[in-house]
Amino acid sequence: MSIPKFKNEPYIDWSKTANRKKQEQAIAKLESQFGKEYPNIIGGEKVYSSAKFNSLNPSDPNQVVGVFQKGTADDALKALDIALKKFEEWRWVPPVKRAQYLFKAAKIMRKRRFEINATMILEVGKTWPEADGDTAEAIDFLEFYAREMLRYANAKTAVQLPGEKDELEYIPIGVGLVVPPWNFPMAILAGMTTAAAVTGNTVVLKPSSDSPLIGYKFMEVMQEAGIPAGVINFVAGPGSAVGDTLVKHPKVRFVSFTGSKEVGIHIYQEAAKVQPGQIWLKRVVAEMGGKDAIIVDSEANLEEAAAGVIVAAYGFQGQKCSACSRAIVDEKVYDKFVQMLKPKAESITVGPSKILSNFMGPVVNKGSMEKIQQYIEIGQKEGGRLIAGGNRAPGDGYFLRPTIIADVEPTATIAQEEIFGPVLAVIKAKNFDHALEIANGTEFGLTGAVYSKNKKKIERARKEFHCGNLYLNRKCTGAMVGAHPFGGFNMSGTDSKAGGQDYLLLFMQAKSIATKIK
Ligand code: NAP
Ligand code: MG
Repeated sequence: MSIPKFKNEPYIDWSKTANRKKQEQAIAKLESQFGKEYPNIIGGEKVYSSAKFNSLNPSDPNQVVGVFQKGTADDALKALDIALKKFEEWRWVPPVKRAQYLFKAAKIMRKRRFEINATMILEVGKTWPEADGDTAEAIDFLEFYAREMLRYANAKTAVQLPGEKDELEYIPIGVGLVVPPWNFPMAILAGMTTAAAVTGNTVVLKPSSDSPLIGYKFMEVMQEAGIPAGVINFVAGPGSAVGDTLVKHPKVRFVSFTGSKEVGIHIYQEAAKVQPGQIWLKRVVAEMGGKDAIIVDSEANLEEAAAGVIVAAYGFQGQKCSACSRAIVDEKVYDKFVQMLKPKAESITVGPSKILSNFMGPVVNKGSMEKIQQYIEIGQKEGGRLIAGGNRAPGDGYFLRPTIIADVEPTATIAQEEIFGPVLAVIKAKNFDHALEIANGTEFGLTGAVYSKNKKKIERARKEFHCGNLYLNRKCTGAMVGAHPFGGFNMSGTDSKAGGQDYLLLFMQAKSIATKIK
């Protein structure tokens, strides 16, 4: 069987009427299913709980996108039990066969692309291009990790000793808990889950309570691809019940988490405690938040820099771990640059994400909107100058205008804490040295970008800008599977490098086998 070289999945062309029509139809179809109830899926069985929760449309929170099971600690334990039993079979399924399920799932996602896009448009408020980018990335993860598994299955030792056959096998580690965030609700969920499964592990998947329907659609895709029941078990419900129960359980071998710093630290600490009967040290992959900066040097192409900052700050309402939340600008071009940003931010269209012409949709939920509004106040109280936005946009949804706060001190709250919304802090730097110092002056280290035409400065940034994903003369969002392995330094997490060639190692252990040849 020959497998074509990995290529990133192309995006849908929205200038084509036929594509727009298909997307509109998929949105209408999902709207006609609003209010439907969805089960948890444990060992391939549909499981219902007595308590339920609603997933709402943030563009119009009166709309219930779906009703979900509020999984309990008991449901989590039941899923773990099934996953433990299934592991004893799945671990022996040859890697080539495991990879086939991912290739098949990628095909199904292509076929169901508009439906999956619609789910993200209506459940978390992604605009059409953002939703489609997410689906394309999910397809990329499936295609990439399937190939990676085949590569690891052919691993060789560096040396063959005379008189023996020296081999290296990458084998699975056990049963894991997978906890993804809502902001890349298909791509990150699919990537985290299938990386763990293709390497021979079985998992309990707990989707974010803000995006359970997208998680459910992923389960449908995997079931359609024929992955055996019990390899991936889907338990929606509160992180505090489902998550905590499994993080602490002695039979859980690993936890793969992507989300906020606070929850990541909590999981890391709890998983580190060795429980009675536990015979391993748990592995924790924890990918967390960012306070990502774009440095605008005095020698930058300011038009390009302003365009890059705007897209990176406001794409998906600033709710990307890679979003630009700080623009650090050399004082020589500072006033001019702020004046360039203002009309760009003010011309951004904000409204329901199902309308293609809106560049920004709503933020994900009410709590999030209120938290962002508080940060906008704090930013001004601490001396920031409001340049654009700062208020809600009209409509029933959680719409916030793109907000710029200038003259922010490098140590101010909004220059240090992740806001996760459409709020940009603009910070003045004395020179390039100072800009680098400010950029590195938070506890995070996820993405960063520098705009400068000066080669020496770019060279310095390459060495001194301490972040997991550095971009030079381009924006800091939009990491592509294969090209930009993704993960951050310091409190941004364990630098797992999702979409890179090291990622699958996190879910395997290497066994060296030496056979004496007579
Ligand atoms: P979050 O609030 O930390 O939630 C993430 C997941 O953790 C959710 O599924 C949540 O479930 C679950 N959870 C909550 N408490 C838990 C517990 N005690 N034990 C186990 N699981 C628990 O983060 P989010 O709001 O979904 O996502 C936004 C954050 O993710 C931002 O900080 C962003 O920077 C970060 N992020 C990082 C990356 C990266 O690659 N570094 C990528 C994307 C996002 P419930 O929904 O039920 O609470
Ligand atoms: Mg929602």
